[in-house]
Amino acid sequence: MSKDCLFCRVAKGEIPADIVMQNDDAVAFRDISPRAPTHILVISRKHIESLEHADDSVDLGALLRTAADVARKEGLVDAGYRVVINTGAHGGQTVDHLHLHVLGGRQMTWPPG
Ligand code: 5GP
Ligand code: ZN
Repeated sequence: MSKDCLFCRVAKGEIPADIVMQNDDAVAFRDISPRAPTHILVISRKHIESLEHADDSVDLGALLRTAADVARKEGLVDAGYRVVINTGAHGGQTVDHLHLHVLGGRQMTWPPG
């Protein structure tokens, strides 16, 4: 837990969020600025700065499992969906707490911008 970290504060319930799922490892909540009809962030309860700082494959597996569970719960599975981890400056990471974007509800384009 980092006391000044935005997503640590969401995970602790100190900042309100539209939570769609939570478990011992992760919290999933709707992005405040959605880029698709469904746009959910999956964060680790543990403060991990980015994918580059994620040393524990169990932590990473739990986040991916939660992302897939969220996609199923949101009804995205039949049409498909995308999971994104922006990492560092060129990756477009703006919040320094590891998070997965689960995006769905429209056709995604490739390559991403
Ligand atoms: P990044 O750009 O780091 O990959 O993604 C950060 C995401 O967090 C962005 O999509 C942004 O809209 C979202 N975000 C930033 N602040 C908040 C907040 O206070 N609440 C919620 N729900 N989402 C946020
Ligand atoms: Zn944090």
